[in-house]
Amino acid sequence: MVVYITGICPQDCYYCPLSETKKGKDVVYANERLVEGRDWLHIILAEARKMRALGTGITGGDPMMVPDRTALVIRTLKEEFGRNHHVHLYTSGPFEPSLIETMKDAGLDEMRFHPPIHTWSSFRYLSGGVEGDASPAIPFHELILHARDSIRSVGLEIPAVVDEKGSKTSNAGSLLELVRYAARTGMDFVNINELEASHTNMGIFSVKGFSLVGDSMAVEGSRELAWSVIKRVQGEFPGTKTVFHFCSSVYKDSVQLRHRLKRMANNLRKPYDIVTEDGTFLRGVIVTDRPDDITALLKERYEVPDELMDALEDRVLIAPWVLEEIGPGLEEETYLSEVYPTWDGLEVERIPL
Ligand code: SF4
Repeated sequence: MVVYITGICPQDCYYCPLSETKKGKDVVYANERLVEGRDWLHIILAEARKMRALGTGITGGDPMMVPDRTALVIRTLKEEFGRNHHVHLYTSGPFEPSLIETMKDAGLDEMRFHPPIHTWSSFRYLSGGVEGDASPAIPFHELILHARDSIRSVGLEIPAVVDEKGSKTSNAGSLLELVRYAARTGMDFVNINELEASHTNMGIFSVKGFSLVGDSMAVEGSRELAWSVIKRVQGEFPGTKTVFHFCSSVYKDSVQLRHRLKRMANNLRKPYDIVTEDGTFLRGVIVTDRPDDITALLKERYEVPDELMDALEDRVLIAPWVLEEIGPGLEEETYLSEVYPTWDGLEVERIPL
């Protein structure tokens, strides 16, 4: 499950992909569902149950900007689903170091740091101890060291930001320094994400001379940059215990999302639903203002079993393979409907019969 715990963030990255409805707003979402009201914690638990979540990623904004809320969610998830429900969070810091203990006590398993891009190159001065006290990387370095004493797994999660047209500084060089730092100090992992455009950062991306790969949202050169940095650092630090991952924009958008939807769909499916490859439901719909009469008629005339249909207020949901057979004999409007298994049941396609 993904819990978006707040849109508040101490950083202002120009590549921030957050939408206007989330960025800077103190809102909470569990997967795609807005979480609000007095029962907000129950809503989060219900979403986790719906998809039989094995773990939760807490994201934002910066979860460390609302530490009490974040700790409460971690503790509640652990109490409800047990110690093995893995919880990680992302943070861009800086924050009060004692909050690391708060997160540890709540049960946090993993912390993923995303220091702001202007600090990356100055990580080259830092190793196990704290040196170079003018470095803007120092507060992040101290937090990372502190977290490594308390939290089971600590790493970096950063985007591969390509060089800007006409800029005197090199983002690629800065990324290399930051990843070297992780390998040198033996952080548990480095996750490098392919840089992605969104409708909120698209304007600034074009000013910086970034272009997109084909008709995708991935920034050209970002994937290659990530791999070249990983390979180079692995070559420079052959014995490092740091594990490197690259996450492509396609993987994040389609594979992770589809996986999440499928878990939810398989858990919630009714006997009349088909779960598609994309993790959506395909079901038949008969539009009617007398749903009980229609289900009685279908049972009598076509011997449709009760479990293959459901009478709602203004429609009957029915197995699509049954509706395709009997639909032509009905006077009512009928169609096949493909919907998300999410709380709002968003319809993605409707095929009239
Ligand atoms: S740290 Fe993340 S959420 Fe905050 S501004 Fe940067 S990209 Fe956006």
